[in-house]
Amino acid sequence: MALFVQKYGGTSVGTVERIEAVADKVKRFREEGHDLVVVVSAMSGETNRLIGLANAIQESPSPREMDVLVSTGEQVTIALLCMALEKRGVSARSYTGGQVKILTDSAHTKARIQDIEVDGMRRDLAAGRVVVVAGFQGVDYDGNITTLGRGGSDTTGVALAAALKADECQIYTDVDGVYTTDPRVVEGATRLDKITFEEMLEMASLGSKVLQIRSVEFAGKYKVPLRVLHSFQDGPGTLITIEDEDTVEKPIISGIAFNRDEAKLTVIGVPDIPGVASRILGPISRANIEVDMIVQNVAGDRTTDFTFTVHRNDFAKAQDILKQVCAELGAREVTGDNKIAKVSIVGVGMRSHAGVASKMFDALAQDNINIQMISTSEIKVSVVIAEKYLELAVRGLHSAFELDKVDTVSE
Ligand code: ADP
Ligand code: ASP
Ligand code: MG
Repeated sequence: MALFVQKYGGTSVGTVERIEAVADKVKRFREEGHDLVVVVSAMSGETNRLIGLANAIQESPSPREMDVLVSTGEQVTIALLCMALEKRGVSARSYTGGQVKILTDSAHTKARIQDIEVDGMRRDLAAGRVVVVAGFQGVDYDGNITTLGRGGSDTTGVALAAALKADECQIYTDVDGVYTTDPRVVEGATRLDKITFEEMLEMASLGSKVLQIRSVEFAGKYKVPLRVLHSFQDGPGTLITIEDEDTVEKPIISGIAFNRDEAKLTVIGVPDIPGVASRILGPISRANIEVDMIVQNVAGDRTTDFTFTVHRNDFAKAQDILKQVCAELGAREVTGDNKIAKVSIVGVGMRSHAGVASKMFDALAQDNINIQMISTSEIKVSVVIAEKYLELAVRGLHSAFELDKVDTVSE
């Protein structure tokens, strides 16, 4: 019999009826003889509602108080799930992150897990109890409540599985696995039986929010067997796994990720002299604005255009900073566009195949979509395009790379 850590996401515990359905499912696993640690998210919409309440009082409230507030969502669902389990005769106990001692650093709203005490959970498991843990939260070494970033319950699940050396970490959600692209955008998206940690990490980083980035990092680092499954439909789901050397027919592209969270800024007519990039990006990084893609061009007249992307929330702030930098550098002007989107193709098979990028550019050209920026790594190619073409681009690429024909033979 196995030890599973199961994480149920917001929609899976979004109503009392669904919480009862999760309890039925947990009961079935117990009857099969498995030991279970169950991590739950807040009811869907609750974390956003709490953030809304805070913002009605203050535009940027203290991160410490935000954590005290938003961690309450998960405290509700752990208690309700335990009640539903007890009603079914299943012995269970709920714990907040602090009670388990999920110890984190003090970076409120984006804390990182440092250590987890497992003895208490092991005692409960030995006594035949299901351990129900609030996702998304921990406690720092001074006892302050912390949270792990949006979508952080995935990371709680994986971290508990690593600490307890569980046989599998199962992420139950509202789709039956990881798809070639977001199935809500492309109807023909297909479920993948397997995807490597490396590919999943790229997909998550490039916008596929089915798993939180840190949970994939963590699972890769500690080799936690990780599976994404549907909460209420049976099926094998998707296994996130290490690269399988034996797979002869690796697809070149495993998936397409996209995000609309970015904005583009350009300083036009910058003198082409040493130190310019640092004079432009220095003040941006000092303002704590993260930069994603960067492109610099050399024009004939000894000036250059310098373009980069930032998170859309930082667009106005970055534009203000650049206006000042532009004057100091004697550059011509600053332009910006916050109606852009980034589309990326991801696949470890790319390493051994030439021509993947040009195939991508061909497909976009056929749909008459202009590419504004390009960046590549060993296993991905990303382009920035106008946001209005995003869905067209994702669908076009999905069929150009024949992802609707992925073989989904079950294991
Ligand atoms: P939960 O509340 O259970 O954590 P999320 O909303 O965080 O669920 O993640 C599940 C959602 O991720 C799906 O409903 C789907 O729209 C989205 N998604 C984005 N990209 C993908 C993908 N490649 N495969 C599957 N789902 C994806
Ligand atoms: N409730 C948190 C959020 O909405 C954490 C999670 O659901 O994983 O971001
Ligand atoms: Mg999620």
